[in-house]
Amino acid sequence: MTYNIAIDGPAGAGKSTIARRVAKELGYIYVDTGAMYRAMALHILNQGIRPEDGERIADACSGADIDIRYENGEQQIFLNGKNVTGDLRREEVGNMASRTSVYACVRQKLTELQKELASRENVVMDGRDIGTSVLPGAQAKIYLTASSRTRALRRCLELQQKGIEGNLEEIEADINERDYRDMHREISPLCRAEDAKLVDSSDLTIEQVTDAILRICREAGCR
Ligand code: C5P
Repeated sequence: MTYNIAIDGPAGAGKSTIARRVAKELGYIYVDTGAMYRAMALHILNQGIRPEDGERIADACSGADIDIRYENGEQQIFLNGKNVTGDLRREEVGNMASRTSVYACVRQKLTELQKELASRENVVMDGRDIGTSVLPGAQAKIYLTASSRTRALRRCLELQQKGIEGNLEEIEADINERDYRDMHREISPLCRAEDAKLVDSSDLTIEQVTDAILRICREAGCR
């Protein structure tokens, strides 16, 4: 039997930072499913396919071999044999991922990979549909959110640290647009699973959120 922890929530709520810490603390593997959707988006971008072109996306999808490996405990994503992890955080890749993740072919392929991983390893998996669709039987489910202003401010700070001056209003508008798309798509839209515990990180530090989630996981029996 494996222990599975599902963390879902909107863009910029801090899922990956927290999930990585929780996984480390429990000795589980951290699985960033957003990175898989980004890898598929990169594959589609590389072929110059428009996000509206469902037919070509279905073709591209069957030709994409996405593999997840761990090097020094860090997730590495391979696309057709090439490590593309360093390319995935680009803004255009994230935007494309949010547009191409609506397609059934994309979701089916990546969901299978995620289920398979969780069946053989103890995982903390983050995404949009983990508690509702990928791992409905997960021992612990968390819906992690924060106000869109807080999320935009965090993103602005992150950019500043990289020496990029972001526009707060534009970033917040982009976050709202992405939330809307993720919450209103037909297949596996982002929503809180009935049995997911809600954690709002707006006024909490990273340590406080990590502790709150670890408590939920331990109460749910994760060891
Ligand atoms: O979390 P991240 O920003 O890396 O995800 C990129 C996009 O991938 C999201 O905007 C969402 O549309 C999609 N995604 C998804 N289901 C997941 C993880 C990500 O649809 N489980």
